Amino acid sequence: MPAPHVVIVGAGSTGAACAHDLALRGLRVTVVERGEFSNATTGRNHCLLHSGGRYAVTDQESAIECIDENLLLRKIMPDALELNDGLFVALTEEDLGFKARFIAGCEACHIPYRELTPAQALAREPLLNPKLLAAVQVPDGVFEPWRFSMAFLATARSNGAVCRSYTEVVELVRQNGSVTGVKVLDRVTGKTDTIGCDLVVNAAGPWAGEVAGFGGIEVPVQPTAGIMVTVGRRMNNMVVNRLDKPSDGDIVVPQRTTSIIGTTSWTVTDPDAIDIPPEHIQKMLHKGIELIPEIATVTTRGVGAAARPLIKRANEDERDVSRTFECFDHKRDGVEGFVSISGGKTTTARGMAEKLGDLVTRKLGLSVACQTRTTQLLSYRLFYA
Ligand SMILES: Cc1cc2nc3c(=O)[nH]c(=O)nc-3n(C[C@H](O)[C@H](O)[C@H](O)COP(=O)(O)OP(=O)(O)OC[C@H]3O[C@@H](n4cnc5c(N)ncnc54)[C@H](O)[C@@H]3O)c2cc1C
Repeated sequence: MPAPHVVIVGAGSTGAACAHDLALRGLRVTVVERGEFSNATTGRNHCLLHSGGRYAVTDQESAIECIDENLLLRKIMPDALELNDGLFVALTEEDLGFKARFIAGCEACHIPYRELTPAQALAREPLLNPKLLAAVQVPDGVFEPWRFSMAFLATARSNGAVCRSYTEVVELVRQNGSVTGVKVLDRVTGKTDTIGCDLVVNAAGPWAGEVAGFGGIEVPVQPTAGIMVTVGRRMNNMVVNRLDKPSDGDIVVPQRTTSIIGTTSWTVTDPDAIDIPPEHIQKMLHKGIELIPEIATVTTRGVGAAARPLIKRANEDERDVSRTFECFDHKRDGVEGFVSISGGKTTTARGMAEKLGDLVTRKLGLSVACQTRTTQLLSYRLFYA
């Protein structure tokens, strides 16, 4: 008997990590991505390998997921990461008042931290605002988002997965209430085709609602945009965060020869058409300059936006929506052979895929344990080798 065949819709960090998890469990996997791999939210994010510090006070479930995955990814994908650590910096008495809560949050979420004096922080990051009052160091890092996803896909492919870019799912094929395949449009040739399978995983990020809609199903995904402003010089080596609850413009992430200031948060209806409010750009620069005054002297190299696939729970406003994730078995909606995964972060993609893999194997009547915690990923370079 051949192993069951699973089709994954979407190859951002979530779909790529799911492909790796399921291929390693011995399933036949086909990943279909309507654009280039990692082209959407994953390819346009802030590149922060979260320590969890950002959520240690306000969203501890997500903070614990972040630190657990951060420590694990260091071992299994070293060539996509820059491990520079991060600083949470107090600039005002109000920020200073937040420090005790921040440290208590780090302790509750087992995030390693170290308090630094202003002089110690400036010795590490000379362009920080010299008026800083305190700093706390945490194990933040930086990833290269395309390399991140391609490391998962390269490894999945070496375990037999088929990865198809420019292949858009336009319909779910159903028989007797079960999903039995997908109809796809090849966006290069314009031809359509059907791929039969035993189960479909909807990992379409902020488009997960649209893909679920092909089955007449709703998933509570709330596409929530954020902008990032990239300046034309690398201003900092460590990730620099404001010591406060997550808010607009409170983080500057170094990425290659640039630094990226982010971000904002607002709900959008169409993740393919995000209009960037001009005042968001000004706010990013203003807040970035507070943290690193020399940003005022460099040119802006680019402005971008993407939508987070957040899970909406009742009565939450955007900033309060948890950054954790959820798997949905659409059997509960009367449709067999179809599951969705949404929410989370790129940092937590492996852990998300582990939960998804547990659900998928359970549904297929298999008992195969997840092996991704200890399996070293291949280099992203090997995808095209
Ligand atoms: C502004 C911003 C900053 C962020 N910063 C960070 C950060 O610093 N660190 C971090 O860890 N996380 C960060 N995140 C969160 C992170 O980017 C997302 O959680 C993650 O990228 C979601 O990945 P995904 O694979 O679910 O979605 P996506 O990357 O969007 O992937 C979904 C894929 O599905 C494809 N697709 C859609 N419809 C179809 C279809 N019909 N057929 C085939 N394919 C389809 C899309 O083309 C897309 O490639 C940030 C998010 C935003 C918006």
